[in-house]
Amino acid sequence: MRISRALVVGMVAAFVAGCGSVTPTAPAPSASAVSPAVTGPGASAVSPNGTGPSGGVVSPAVTGPSGGVVPPAVTGPSGGVVSPPASAGGAAKPEAHAIALAALPANLRGRVPEFAPAPPATKVELPTDGTAGWFSRIPTTQRVAFITIDDGWVRHPLALKLLQAADVPVTLFLETDAIRSDPRFFGRLESAGATIENHTISHPDLKGRSYAAQKHEICGGADQLAGFYGRRPTLFRPPFGTHDATTLRAAHDCGMKAAFSWKATTNKGKVRFQDGPGVKPGDIILMHFRDRFPDDFLGVLQAIHKAGLIPARLEDYIP
Ligand SMILES: [Zn+2]
Repeated sequence: MRISRALVVGMVAAFVAGCGSVTPTAPAPSASAVSPAVTGPGASAVSPNGTGPSGGVVSPAVTGPSGGVVPPAVTGPSGGVVSPPASAGGAAKPEAHAIALAALPANLRGRVPEFAPAPPATKVELPTDGTAGWFSRIPTTQRVAFITIDDGWVRHPLALKLLQAADVPVTLFLETDAIRSDPRFFGRLESAGATIENHTISHPDLKGRSYAAQKHEICGGADQLAGFYGRRPTLFRPPFGTHDATTLRAAHDCGMKAAFSWKATTNKGKVRFQDGPGVKPGDIILMHFRDRFPDDFLGVLQAIHKAGLIPARLEDYIP
């Protein structure tokens, strides 16, 4: 299905360009050949987010109809634990993906690398002593890396299209105070391969705080996200990456299987590595929802691609 991506993108791009102008070359044979792909079943997967700042590209299906926080097509409330790695979208994904790629501004489109599908995940081992696991990388020799995006203060208008165009899994560690004013923005990202996980209510430095205080922030964040999105997180990132033994106990008691630090960070499009240059197999990469989301996200994708690795879904590696 990916093989035809370039072709589909080209066709969709041509079609979109035609839509943008006043369609002088209207129903040419090639256009009619393309249109089923645009308005076909795949289009419904794209429709909630058709419009971006770049202008109503997929205009027929544009306006975000899914008023609810959880888009109808997304995984069921409690289920969906075992999903196929790296492709949450099902059959409609390649079309949605190609349309999103074609809809990106040209200066971004050329910077989206193409990845092979991620290999089947191998599960890590978790502690059995009543604490959550702690990882800054996933211990694996598989050629995979993990993209994590934190907080949620900035809702960049191109975030959805970029995720769709990249067609890779990402894990969002969301602070509920940051997303409370517009949780549905992040709900839409779930339809593009994102999984929403826990990053506390108010982003305190947890280290040294009482068990009760830490539990309040961790359980409270998970409960609120469950209320917003219909799925209670099972993974946790402590604010600032700081933690102590109490954190991992409280996280476990709040239902968090594991907590995560990182091996690389991203800001203003630059990726900084903690263990020498380049992304290594199993590395967890940290970025944030910031003003320069496109540069950060594309910088991370390119760093992973340059290392010969494939973005994989963090949740798939946790038993
Ligand atoms: Zn944070």
